[in-house]
Amino acid sequence: MPTPPYRGRFAPSPTGPLHLGSLLAALGSWLLARQAGGQWLVRIEDLDPPREIAGAAAAQLRTLAAFGMQSDEPVWWQDTRGDAYRAALERLFASGDAFWCHCSRSDLAADAGVHRRCVAMRHRPDPAARFRVPPFTTLAFDDAIQGRVAQDVATEVGDFVLRRADGWWAYQLAVVVDDAAQGITDVVRGADLLDSTPRQILLQRALGLPTPRYAHLPLVVDGAGRKLSKSLAALPVDPDDPLPALRAAWAALGQEPRALPATGSIANVLQGALRAFVPGAIPRLPQAPLAAVHNTE
Ligand code: GLU
Repeated sequence: MPTPPYRGRFAPSPTGPLHLGSLLAALGSWLLARQAGGQWLVRIEDLDPPREIAGAAAAQLRTLAAFGMQSDEPVWWQDTRGDAYRAALERLFASGDAFWCHCSRSDLAADAGVHRRCVAMRHRPDPAARFRVPPFTTLAFDDAIQGRVAQDVATEVGDFVLRRADGWWAYQLAVVVDDAAQGITDVVRGADLLDSTPRQILLQRALGLPTPRYAHLPLVVDGAGRKLSKSLAALPVDPDDPLPALRAAWAALGQEPRALPATGSIANVLQGALRAFVPGAIPRLPQAPLAAVHNTE
């Protein structure tokens, strides 16, 4: 079978402004897609209204545009995709891979929140749908940056949620359905999602969907090695002055700082970045001096 053309994506959740961690995922996925001559799509993962902030998605798209990164196709919004998630869930129920679960968080507390079998004492009106992970399921895959990754999904994760008790779709199901529906060949994202990937591959197999290639970028840490990417305290990037953040993201990708044009429009700098980009230089682990790069701008 011929190899399908490269299609990458950036899939932020609209829970706040883009910060350095999300910019790194945006820039890394954009550079890898462009260097492969491929397409780059943006998908807003607005699946979790309780955690979302009004106007955040629009602000994220504006910031991406200020960095010169625009989706090659109309942006997808996950809150319009319920029918597709429902169809996938029905398929998983039909194959016996999904089940309704009445366990509450406190029911599972004794097992550190890991669901191996239902232990609920009573039925609840709002059960969650879970994926049944067969016992002894270790899943391994080769990540383009992190190398061989193996996870004992049955023991470390257990049966995971597909549809939450509060009725919202779970990220794991939605991301798998949408990556396949958008024909994504290459998932490039932060290493904080590395331990979600085995679950996603299990779901792809159960749904008969192709598994894309994966590349998990190093997390952004501050000078003390503390993770920044998911923290609310992470510095929002300034769309009115994108260059310092772009330089910091470039350095976090292990790229030669002097290879970026020192001046010029953001479009020029981005094109310069694309010409100078060396994918093999992306480090597996965070680069400690990043905070210094960012602060001295
Ligand atoms: N929406 C997820 C996040 O912002 C990213 C999902 C993904 O790239 O697979 O953390």
